[in-house]
Amino acid sequence: MDILARIEDYAKTQGDKVAFSSRDGEITYLELWEKSARMAETIECRMQDNREPVVVYGHKDPMMIVCFLACVRSGRAYCPVDVSVPNERVEQIVGTIGDPLVLIATERCSLDANLCEQMLSYEELKEITSSARECSVSSDAGKVELGKCTGEDVHYIIFTSGTTGRPKGVQITTENLNNYLEWAVTLDGGIEEGANFLNQAPYSFDLSVMDLYLSLATGGRVVAADKELQQNNSKLLEYTSGQRINYWVSTPSFADLCLADANFNGEKLAELKAWLFCGEVLTNQTAQELLERFPKANLINTYGPTESTVCVTEVRISKSMAESGSPLPVGKVKPGSSVALDPDTSEIIIIGDTVSPGYYKLPEQTAKAFYQREGIRAYRTGDKGHFDENGLLYCDGRIDNQIKLHGYRIELEDIEANLMKIDGVQRAAVVPRFKDGKAESLTAFVIRDRELISDDYEGRKCIRLALRTSMPSYMVPKRIVMVEELPMTNNGKLDRKRLKEMA
Ligand code: AMP
Repeated sequence: MDILARIEDYAKTQGDKVAFSSRDGEITYLELWEKSARMAETIECRMQDNREPVVVYGHKDPMMIVCFLACVRSGRAYCPVDVSVPNERVEQIVGTIGDPLVLIATERCSLDANLCEQMLSYEELKEITSSARECSVSSDAGKVELGKCTGEDVHYIIFTSGTTGRPKGVQITTENLNNYLEWAVTLDGGIEEGANFLNQAPYSFDLSVMDLYLSLATGGRVVAADKELQQNNSKLLEYTSGQRINYWVSTPSFADLCLADANFNGEKLAELKAWLFCGEVLTNQTAQELLERFPKANLINTYGPTESTVCVTEVRISKSMAESGSPLPVGKVKPGSSVALDPDTSEIIIIGDTVSPGYYKLPEQTAKAFYQREGIRAYRTGDKGHFDENGLLYCDGRIDNQIKLHGYRIELEDIEANLMKIDGVQRAAVVPRFKDGKAESLTAFVIRDRELISDDYEGRKCIRLALRTSMPSYMVPKRIVMVEELPMTNNGKLDRKRLKEMA
């Protein structure tokens, strides 16, 4: 599949159809195509030899999508950063890239105007994309020539939690994305054309790639639910029901939140065809509840890491599977990919055409996790797994300290590194608390310098405040416990098992 060609085709044949809508506005396929062309031209003229990825900062404004397409149409990767990412972390991302152009695709921007040399404000983006402006892209000689992203060009970079305390950027090529989409349009027995997709995940998470591109690839409409809406169950239900959602794309944790509302059922979402889940364990309990309340909607579990473009497996969860009491499978591997299990650790290794070329400017971390297997890219996921007799893959937890908390991917060492940067914190360890096989909250154990942190209560408050400036709020531990020492194993390593019992 050539996703850009698909979008262009919809722009030409069904231009009036809405491609994206949110409470911030909506945009048709034709507008999306024309506005992204105008902006691509501006990016090209402005950046010229600077081919660095472009940072797109925002939330659920249609301008986000215009910016994404504009970047790749100008031959540059985009790096989506959600407004919920604290400024310090945005600075780290910008610093890692070097000298990027930053596009502010939101009216509500709290970033420092001096963050980087090249920044275009929301008002400027509006001006640039305005229909009153002439666009010379794809016109005759003498005009701006754009070389869009193709093949092995990096299409987007998604920054995710890194063990060093700095986020690491996963690079996904245009070919990776196209290969993923070629298969993803067959999910749930074939995605229907012109459907409405719920977008829940912020664009800085790769789950959002599923709804955005699956929708654009099938002439659908993305219905993006903003943060505020997501925090109000009844408003969200009214909104999603009014928008006639057909495919619900979210983490299972988000569906759990919605299930707390007794009105969240098949009558309210009468046109729902399927749940498309990815990103974390789908529990039997959630599956049963959804199948009961939404008897007409299929329940699809998919699995995969950002490093292999959203997901690589699929299974439809039946009522009997959900009621079986044994953990649910993540499914069969897509064509073009295969999964091997490490003979010693049972680690899931993904091999195939959606595996990323590696982390942005991190050759050592790339070499640790990625390798070539018979000439094909392979990625060590860190997940343990097994296959059943029907060839269905199961995830059996992690071999490292990465966790999923309410659908968010977190390296515990990331939080620990940020804790250790705080004055008065001598040592720190973070462990999750589990409930029904899912991490429910985080506890941080801290050894403090008594001269700098004399009072436990005040100390906890300061630590929490400091963490909030350096990491997203979902990474800030719910409990902070001051301790005199941390438990160690016989060979001198931090005893995380003991800590989990203490959490
Ligand atoms: P992310 O890169 O944020 O998509 O996170 C990828 C990780 O989420 C995987 O390596 C798994 O640990 C976990 N994960 C994703 N999908 C599933 C699933 N369906 N079941 C269990 N764990 C999952």
